[in-house]
Amino acid sequence: MLFSELPLISPILTALSEEGYTNPTPIQEQAIPPLLSRRDLLGCAQTGTGKTAAFAIPILQLLHEDRKQQQGPRRIRALILTPTRELAIQIGESFAAYGRHLNVRHTVIFGGVSQHAQVNALKSGIDVLIATPGRLLDLMNQGFISLRNIDLFVLDEADRMLDMGFIHDVKKVIVKLPTQRQSLFFSATMPPDVAKLADSILNKPVKVEV
Ligand code: AMP
Repeated sequence: MLFSELPLISPILTALSEEGYTNPTPIQEQAIPPLLSRRDLLGCAQTGTGKTAAFAIPILQLLHEDRKQQQGPRRIRALILTPTRELAIQIGESFAAYGRHLNVRHTVIFGGVSQHAQVNALKSGIDVLIATPGRLLDLMNQGFISLRNIDLFVLDEADRMLDMGFIHDVKKVIVKLPTQRQSLFFSATMPPDVAKLADSILNKPVKVEV
């Protein structure tokens, strides 16, 4: 299959061809159409399968289409929660690459560095926030971030999130999300505690295993 056979808008197809991508990976082929139809998704996939593009591409397209109808200041409409700084940075690079011809802005926040530049980026107005849980809660508690307008939520590497002891932080974030939203849940493995968390977040998800 070719990317051009998926229902993607031309600025995204152009960006993908500039990246040198012609064919979607299996998770991209299976996840992109239901995500564009605003379904929830449970993805059992490791890093290296192309899972980042599998969620970044449809999120960019949905937000770009919504933005055409909405004027006024940008509000955070998509939240990607990921366990490590390295993953957060990589996800940010994917949004930059696939979204380079779109009117969608993102920023990345993580702990271990000064919050100053991150707070300035938040104040400048963004559509997509990519975050690690600790720094996200910290900036929420200081009043720099509201999750009130989130309609897309991604929990990335959920099994690692639990292994790293972030379950309480993740739950604190989830209770702040609007209940009306589209949710995506990715994990390399699906032990019972991870499956239970997925169950509590997702609504009739499409299941994709690669
Ligand atoms: P991920 O599983 O998201 O960490 O992606 C693994 C690697 O595959 C990344 O370096 C991507 O840039 C690359 N990649 C993702 N999708 C494709 C694709 N459809 N064709 C070629 N490379 C890809």
